[in-house]
Amino acid sequence: MTSVVAVEKKKLDKPPLEIHYLGDRVLRQPAKRIAKVDDSIRQLVKEMLQTMYSADGIGLAAPQVAINKQLIVIDCEPNNPDTSPLVLINPKIVKYGNELCNSEEGCLSIPGVYLEVTRPDAIEVSFKDENGRPRKIKANGLLSRVIQHEMDHLSGVMFVDRVENDLALTEELKKQGFAVNAVRPVK
Ligand SMILES: [Zn+2]
Repeated sequence: MTSVVAVEKKKLDKPPLEIHYLGDRVLRQPAKRIAKVDDSIRQLVKEMLQTMYSADGIGLAAPQVAINKQLIVIDCEPNNPDTSPLVLINPKIVKYGNELCNSEEGCLSIPGVYLEVTRPDAIEVSFKDENGRPRKIKANGLLSRVIQHEMDHLSGVMFVDRVENDLALTEELKKQGFAVNAVRPVK
């Protein structure tokens, strides 16, 4: 079955949506729940996917394109034409695994910055898909990390807020021209 939101996995010269960067206040607003999954939402999903593929990303949250909705698109295999992307609407993490895991993250809203973040390894997440159907999945490894990273965006949290190595954080942000005071440490 092909997904109703399927788009070609390729780079467009002019992606439909504009990605906003660290320091922009739209990234800090908590996103609102989507009451009804209709064609306008599915159109937005398509445009977010096209924008994500164009930017070489594997995940994109609506606040990154200045849309204040609880909507995430993910594709851990952007170069595989045979797999469908994952669409999470109003996602909620219902269970965390006990183990923590350290891994390098990047973000389309903070280009060029890659730093280690500690997160729970495994999660269970409930959400609605692009057809408005309730779903629940278990994830670990890369998928778990991408979901947690993107869900942070829905609460106005950026991955740099979770970086514990202050020295590396300051250095990397400066190197890429981002203001260090745009970070809002989570603890
Ligand atoms: Zn991000």
